[in-house]
Amino acid sequence: MTSNSISANQGGFVSLVGAGPGDPDLLTVKALRLIQKAEVIVYDRLVSPEIMELVNPNAELIYVGKRLNHHCVPQDQINQVLVDQAQQDKHVVRLKGGDPFIFGRGGEELEKLAIEQIPFEVVPGITAAAGCTAYAGIPLTHRDHAQSVHFITGHLKKEGMDIDWAALSKGNTTLVFYMGLKESGNIQDKLVSAGLSEETSIAIIERGTTPQQRVLTGTLSQLSTIAQKAASPSLIVVGSVTSLHSQLNWFE
Ligand code: SAH
Repeated sequence: MTSNSISANQGGFVSLVGAGPGDPDLLTVKALRLIQKAEVIVYDRLVSPEIMELVNPNAELIYVGKRLNHHCVPQDQINQVLVDQAQQDKHVVRLKGGDPFIFGRGGEELEKLAIEQIPFEVVPGITAAAGCTAYAGIPLTHRDHAQSVHFITGHLKKEGMDIDWAALSKGNTTLVFYMGLKESGNIQDKLVSAGLSEETSIAIIERGTTPQQRVLTGTLSQLSTIAQKAASPSLIVVGSVTSLHSQLNWFE
């Protein structure tokens, strides 16, 4: 156990913990140990019910889930919940889907804790891009297909991001879009305009790693049409590695 971990700490402490993409068996040993000991668990919509069944039955559960365009709890209030609970000398587990530092706003929550001088630790989780593609039989890299991989947010406008579409469209790379369903038409247009072939293979992985997992495949020219058939949470994967799904799919 590390020196700053909970057993060594008197007073409040926050563990920012990644819960992985859904399958409870993909929790890390450390994550499991922490959720079984936590006094307070602050959790998101993306943390699966099967994982919530594993938490300390005596823990106080605080739900701060959000949906696109329907923020149940604004981020600054979530930050404040963490501060308030920790200041009551509690061990708080902030449990997030996937990895807390990948499109999880974990950094923002820790910045607030740092300002308030509340000690914390970070427990990485299996991010959706890694977990869902593994369960879909889609290797993110492959010597014959992709030498690099990009994780990209599909919240293109909101985050005011200036995405370098030309760099993403050079080929030999795998593109993984998180939160991309609503922007799928835009993503398709931008990639094709920047020169990526419309024949490039794509996959949409819905509810990856869970018993409800579905993988929809096609080409870039069909991306927005296929996306209309998919439900949240879904990942969009663009690149020729997705063509391996038909051969390597082992889970469904
Ligand atoms: N921190 C998380 C990502 C949060 S953003 C992580 O590291 O995985 C939320 C987005 O993640 C969703 O909109 C979806 O694109 C993706 N996602 C998370 N879990 C998923 C799952 N089980 N199946 C498919 N996509 C998932």
